[in-house]
Amino acid sequence: MTLNGPHIKTALPGPRAKALIERDQAVVSPSYTRGYPLAIARGEGAMVEDIDGNVFLDCAAGIAVNSTGHSHPDVVRAITSQAQKFLHMSGTDFYYEPQVRLAEELSAVAPIPGGSRSFFGNSGTEAIEACLKLSRYATGRQNLIAFLGGFHGRSMGSLALTASKVGQRRGFGPLLPGVYHAPYPDCYRCPVGLNAENCAAECLEYIDQQLFVHLVSPDEVAAIVVEPIQGEGGYVVAPDQFMRRLRELTAKHGILLVDDEVQSGMGRSGKMFAIEYAGVEPDMIAIAKGIASGLPLGVATARKDLMAWPPGSHASTFGGNPLSCAAAIETMRLLKTRLVANAADVGAYLKNALLAIAEKHRLIGDVRGRGLMIGVELVRDRQTKERAPEERDAVVSASFARGLLLLGAGRNAIRFSPPLVLTREQADIAARIFDEALVEVEAKRSTPH
Ligand code: PLP
Repeated sequence: MTLNGPHIKTALPGPRAKALIERDQAVVSPSYTRGYPLAIARGEGAMVEDIDGNVFLDCAAGIAVNSTGHSHPDVVRAITSQAQKFLHMSGTDFYYEPQVRLAEELSAVAPIPGGSRSFFGNSGTEAIEACLKLSRYATGRQNLIAFLGGFHGRSMGSLALTASKVGQRRGFGPLLPGVYHAPYPDCYRCPVGLNAENCAAECLEYIDQQLFVHLVSPDEVAAIVVEPIQGEGGYVVAPDQFMRRLRELTAKHGILLVDDEVQSGMGRSGKMFAIEYAGVEPDMIAIAKGIASGLPLGVATARKDLMAWPPGSHASTFGGNPLSCAAAIETMRLLKTRLVANAADVGAYLKNALLAIAEKHRLIGDVRGRGLMIGVELVRDRQTKERAPEERDAVVSASFARGLLLLGAGRNAIRFSPPLVLTREQADIAARIFDEALVEVEAKRSTPH
């Protein structure tokens, strides 16, 4: 049965979802960040049905993962066909074609000069861990630089880079030593005003004239790790000139540039990798989320001469398992033939719709993003840019109640990260529901209590 909608027919959560959530609370880790009570039964393209029969338009995509939509028939076919041959053999000890083929495909599309070699893990954080270890190994240097607001994962090495929300770090220290953080060029909030050139210069100057002068010698820095578009941090786009100058600065000091495209990569930005907008060639790219349409896969793909570590230095039993590789090969085919272009086209269309909505709503301070990676920042006051975290949560909940799945990002932004199969008609529906949710929240906020 085809899922049309959205269509909400029970109170939310419905009776079945309520019962499931009670069971979950008894036995599942409470550390997960469930913003609203969605319990999925099935999905199809950009639509999701919950276990009570409510139908939602999905602009969250399992945190920007279901790139080809839910259960794309070609991806399911590729997984099924591989499952009938073998499920596991461990690429750590043996060879299988899907893993080699995927590495070849990545080498062909990654903006890394001379092609790349790939290391396979199961998640974004493992992709980052691999980049960290390889950076240290290849340079013989220990220190690392990342950016405030950045999110790179939650295992102990990645967590040391992560500087998004303090609750993600609280109680887990001490973390990896030798990690320094610099401000990220968030032009909307930059103290030097809404000017990409100045904003880029301000952040780079901090690295060059503060960190390198007072805290760490550049010849002891192994890598700078950067998201070209901060994901968890609020869908903040770094200006292209920032990325270009960061590349110049790293090259000058023999520092590796690690491009974290776990969220922005694999077509989401409207290009295969978001760093391509700036024309910058990094030394390594961390990839995960969208690469295998929902199956677990994390990849560190790096310059061939850098990925020259010896047998045994890094490996993973499950990393790059055959099912995930088969799903990724098919995902990449769909991305190249249609979906990267669709992300650019429908993404621009949706962003324009959201910009038009912003004209009507005082709660919206900023609309930004590339492709189908669009952030809307909510503020209490457009002049002071006072953040509106509670209103943000209320808009996400009001959207859910109307059948639109969204996620928050950063302190007070909302992210639109739908499957890359989203159509213009679905973008219209998303914009309409979002508009209604804003009207509801604004009306409540202006009603005296
Ligand atoms: N890097 C970025 C940019 C991410 O957005 C994330 C996850 O949100 C990660 C790394 C960590 O990925 P995972 O949750 O798969 O470990």
